[in-house]
Amino acid sequence: MTEDWRDSQEILVMDGRIKVPYAWSAGEVGTTYLESLRDAERFLGTRCPVCGIVYHLPRMHCPDCFEACPEWVELESTGTLVTWTIARRPHPALSPLAPPFGFGVIRLDGADTGFLHLLYGFGVGSLRSGMRVEAVFARERTGSILDVSHFRPSREVV
Ligand SMILES: [Zn+2]
Repeated sequence: MTEDWRDSQEILVMDGRIKVPYAWSAGEVGTTYLESLRDAERFLGTRCPVCGIVYHLPRMHCPDCFEACPEWVELESTGTLVTWTIARRPHPALSPLAPPFGFGVIRLDGADTGFLHLLYGFGVGSLRSGMRVEAVFARERTGSILDVSHFRPSREVV
């Protein structure tokens, strides 16, 4: 095999900066969901009338059978940690929390699907798939998914 220019090429790195302000419409379902978090500290999902799947985050239409999902279902603020990873460095774009914090997929009690949110207030090495977690709501809520500050290990008595 002959040596080609790629074997000795110095890879250049260019510094850049991207700032992209934007507004995103939450739509009807998203607005109802976020208002419920903001005003009542209550999680909502939607149920597919054909499959019976309870979606959280709520869906206007079932992604499996495409049926409309008009039924709202109130969910618990406790759930099960499905999977997770830990961030050991600050990441202000993704989390207002100081490290170590985690990102976890959480399936709330009453829902059939999981969603991604922040994990905090756990001991190093204590996170496990299948562990019980509970939501901690932000004191000041604005109609954002961060109205739920994070999830922590559950303090529920079983
Ligand atoms: Zn369905």
